[in-house]
Amino acid sequence: MVRYVYDFTEGGREMAGLLGGKGSNLAEMTRLGLPVPPGFVITTDACRAFLTTGGEPAGMSREVSDHLRAVEEAAGRLLGQRDDPLLLSVRSGARFSMPGMMETILDIGLNDDSVLGLAKVSGSERFAWDSYRRLVQMFGSTVMGVDGRLFERAMAELKDRRGARDDVHLDAGDLAELVETYKTVIRRETGEDFPQSPAEQLRRSILAVFESWNGERARLYRRREHISDDLGTAVSVQRMVFGNLGPDSGSGVAFTRDPATGRPGLYGDYLPNAQGEDVVAGIRNTVPLGELERLDPGSYARLRAHMETLERHYRDLCDIEFTIERGTLWMLQTRVGKRTAEAAFALASALADEGLITPDEGLARVSGEGLARLMFPRFDTSGHADPLARGLPASPGAAVGAAVFHSAEAVRRAAAGEKVVLVRQETTPDDLPGMIAAQAVLTSRGGKTSHAAVVARGMGKVCVCGAEELTVDTGARRFTAPDGTVVEEGTVISVDGSAGAVYPGSVPLVDSAVMRFLETGGTDEGTAGVVDAVARALARADTVRRLEVRANADTPEDAARARRFGAQGIGLCRTEHMFLGERRKLVEEMILADSDVTRDRALAALLPLQRRDFTAILEAMDGLPVTIRLLDPPLHEFLPDRTDLAVRIAATEARGDLPAAHDAELLTAVNRMHEENPMLGLRGVRLGLVVPGLVAMQVRAIGEAVAERLRAGGAPRAEIMVPLVGDVRELRIVRDEVRRVLAEVSEESGVPVDCPVGTMIELPRAALTAGRIAGEAEFFSFGTNDLTQTTWGFSRDDVEAEFFSAYLDKGVFPVSPFETIDRDGVGRLVTIAVAEGRAARPDLKIGVCGEHGGDPESVHFFHFAGLDYVSCSPFRVPVARLEAGRAAL
Ligand code: PEP
Ligand code: MG
Repeated sequence: MVRYVYDFTEGGREMAGLLGGKGSNLAEMTRLGLPVPPGFVITTDACRAFLTTGGEPAGMSREVSDHLRAVEEAAGRLLGQRDDPLLLSVRSGARFSMPGMMETILDIGLNDDSVLGLAKVSGSERFAWDSYRRLVQMFGSTVMGVDGRLFERAMAELKDRRGARDDVHLDAGDLAELVETYKTVIRRETGEDFPQSPAEQLRRSILAVFESWNGERARLYRRREHISDDLGTAVSVQRMVFGNLGPDSGSGVAFTRDPATGRPGLYGDYLPNAQGEDVVAGIRNTVPLGELERLDPGSYARLRAHMETLERHYRDLCDIEFTIERGTLWMLQTRVGKRTAEAAFALASALADEGLITPDEGLARVSGEGLARLMFPRFDTSGHADPLARGLPASPGAAVGAAVFHSAEAVRRAAAGEKVVLVRQETTPDDLPGMIAAQAVLTSRGGKTSHAAVVARGMGKVCVCGAEELTVDTGARRFTAPDGTVVEEGTVISVDGSAGAVYPGSVPLVDSAVMRFLETGGTDEGTAGVVDAVARALARADTVRRLEVRANADTPEDAARARRFGAQGIGLCRTEHMFLGERRKLVEEMILADSDVTRDRALAALLPLQRRDFTAILEAMDGLPVTIRLLDPPLHEFLPDRTDLAVRIAATEARGDLPAAHDAELLTAVNRMHEENPMLGLRGVRLGLVVPGLVAMQVRAIGEAVAERLRAGGAPRAEIMVPLVGDVRELRIVRDEVRRVLAEVSEESGVPVDCPVGTMIELPRAALTAGRIAGEAEFFSFGTNDLTQTTWGFSRDDVEAEFFSAYLDKGVFPVSPFETIDRDGVGRLVTIAVAEGRAARPDLKIGVCGEHGGDPESVHFFHFAGLDYVSCSPFRVPVARLEAGRAAL
């Protein structure tokens, strides 16, 4: 038979799924012999059964009665006993902490009779009536559904009438009167009386806590924290102890170490003559915990001893809640304490030094997310205004600068020493110089894999994209926020790329010592504090991880930086990023060429430029693999915008002038090449098959660069990657061409040049025919951006800003599949392709170079899927190293 209730003496922390965090830790403390008021836990099973059927599960109430009897026997009195009532608290406690999101009911067992008994035994009428007042109020709002403000109003009116400033100025008579008023409010609002039966109070409180699992606050919190709706909450029922029985009583909260920095020592607050709730609510001023040593040295010494027991037992920072009732210390709650990212690293290091945990346990307790938070400057937003707008947190960090609306303006002002933020509706490759010059990029359109996001992330530049609430008018050089604020060019704004927020004015910045350390490619020698802790965690991760970590980089500078960050090669060099700026003209000529001769001339002009790029990158990554991808995007991306061009021509004609021949020619080409769905059109390998000479030019540039590096005594390791392959025959055609050109280069240069040829897997068809493709490919690299786009049928440039918020709200997925790999769908394709690829070619090297390669959760998936490496933007390399290590534990 299923059991629904466990006594504290029967459970332990390994039962957190069943007893919730709070319940299982109370059981653990009981097991450790610490002074915990007796009680029992009703399981999450019971909650789930109740929420599914709408009724109490069979047998639960009998089990509750049995356990209640045991608590009563231990206390030597009965729940609600009229002369000396046992009182209970009923608290929620889910597996994962959801602070303040669900209900708590205290002082259960009081009624019109037992309040008098309590007054007598406690020797304080005021205390008894205040407790009863609290019960009626909590029960009325939580269990009976009365609007809590009605009670607050009644209290405020009474205080007014008595001229009392504070609750404490109300006496027993006042509180007794308030109880009557509250009861009238309940009757008026619900047509029901406040129940006098202690058993009914208990039963209904338990069910109300179950129901609070589905309260609006709790649901919202779970969605934000990615906690499953199916878990349910447990309910702890516990004997009440009182911290408000006089000066020898009180309540407090404490940490075994400083949760902000991880430094050892007791930290916390104490409030004499108060209930725990008063401490948390911050109604009255607390005193530092150290003060307790003076007030009650005995309790203080016991508290210290218990906390040491807890920290040694949990082998981690613990936080606790305690109450002292007339000189007797009671432990009411403990858990492994929440902490800042800095404290997490510092603690992992310190506890390992103290021998409390192993270095691997230390590594398990830090996270890539925490590391990312420490790597970038942060805003100190305390006391600062609300954000102007929110968007997607596309690239982390914080930056302040003057808003500018054009790339050229950004470059001009930055050259004059001004800090700027480039604001656009969305960015295009044309904006690259402005993006480089700016401190941050802000767009009103586009998702986390939009151009702005990907490029900014690659540069480690702060970026908020898809801030749809903003109306960006680049023509008028200003944007308008939803509250009507107009930000003109030159106005200073602050952009928080970690939180996805834009603030007016200049928010103060906190610089990152961790980034300074990583940027210099430091070792852990001579470091201290959090930097030292980070260095040690990374060193441990590097020792244990199986996944290699490469970087996505397409300039020598990025390659060098990636190397300092610990990258073991380049997993994706996007060659289209080398076709920008002045070179765009040459690409345009190549596209517009009406004969082989003109096309060949354009290609020949591009060749030395590409060769120079490759040589420099191979040099920066000497000895490490560099995966160079052949041109991928649709060609029209290199041509002017169709509408802009048509408008320009129309305007010229309207003035009675003849449009420039070049413009007319361009428009014809743009129209010819126009595609409704360019991301599904002429791009990737398809370009190589359709545009004569393009593959040959790029491969020749790579081959000659390799030959040049070899001659210079280097160790170039170029790998040639073909994008967007759907069928093995596409790859075979291109691969044959690659081989032919490399043979030519070898022959001409007299240096034997050989590069592995592989493919991206970014179409479902490629994943599903991976066995055949592996016959022609020496390596695979999953392009999970496109693979997510084509598996879901989501346009990666549009959907995140468009309707993903509705999808996230409705729980279709807890996080964007462009951010964290969708294990069930896209992940399954990855698994299939890995298995079939390796079956066909056992030594097939397999990596991932989509944005997921730097996402902590996805890195774990790739580890278990058996990939050889992940590749991500340089700034995420340390995060990926850390998570690859954690995945291997
Ligand atoms: C991908 O599709 O995942 C990928 C890495 O290629 P790109 O983002 O350049 O399309
Ligand atoms: Mg792609």
